[in-house]
Amino acid sequence: MAQVYVALGANLADPISQLNNACEALLSLAAPQSFSVSSYYRSAPMGDVEQPDYVNAVAGFNTELTPIELLDALQNIENQQGRLRELRWGPRTLDLDLLLYDSQCIDTPRLTVPHYGMRERSFVLVPLFDIAPTLTLPDNTKLASLISDSLRAELVLAQDFTGE
Ligand code: ATP
Ligand code: MG
Ligand code: MG
Repeated sequence: MAQVYVALGANLADPISQLNNACEALLSLAAPQSFSVSSYYRSAPMGDVEQPDYVNAVAGFNTELTPIELLDALQNIENQQGRLRELRWGPRTLDLDLLLYDSQCIDTPRLTVPHYGMRERSFVLVPLFDIAPTLTLPDNTKLASLISDSLRAELVLAQDFTGE
C-alpha cells in the first residue's frame, strides 16, 4: 500500500464543484479511512494565458494502485470532468497531478514523481502542508522548511469563490 498525494486544480465551470466531484472520484481509489483533503485555495494562474483564477487543493490517501495505474486513473477522472488539452497551462475544468508516491523517484516519459513543479508552487506546498505538516520529501527536505508567510500570502481561502 502506498501513501500518495495529488494536487487538484480547476478554473472553469464552477471550480469548487469540480474539486468536490474530483474528491468523490479520488475517494474511490483510496483505501478505507485513508483519504484527507486540504482547504481549497484561490490562486493566480501561472504563465501568460489570460484566464480566471484557480481553485487548488491537495488530497492524500493510501492506494494499492501502481504509479502508472494511478496516473491512468487520474487522467480518467480529468477526462470524465470534461478536461480538454489545448494550451499549456491554459484554462481547464480539472487538473490532477501526482505529487508524491511514497518516497519513490520516478522518471519516465509519462510520469515524473515527485512532480517537477511542486517545490516552486505555493498552491501545492501550502495545501500539502495542511494535510501533511511533518512530511519529508524524497530528497530529505522537510516540507515545513519550504513554507513561509510570503508563500501563504500568495493564496486566499476559496470557500466563497464560484469562478467567473
Ligand atoms: P504541469 O505539469 O506544469 O502542472 P499540466 O498539469 O497542465 O502542467 P498536463 O497537461 O495535465 O500538464 O499533463 C501533461 C503530461 O504530464 C501528462 O500527459 C502526463 O503524462 C505528464 N506527467 C508527468 N508527470 C506527471 C505527474 N507527476 N502527474 C501528472 N501528470 C504527469
Ligand atoms: Mg498541473
Ligand atoms: Mg496535469
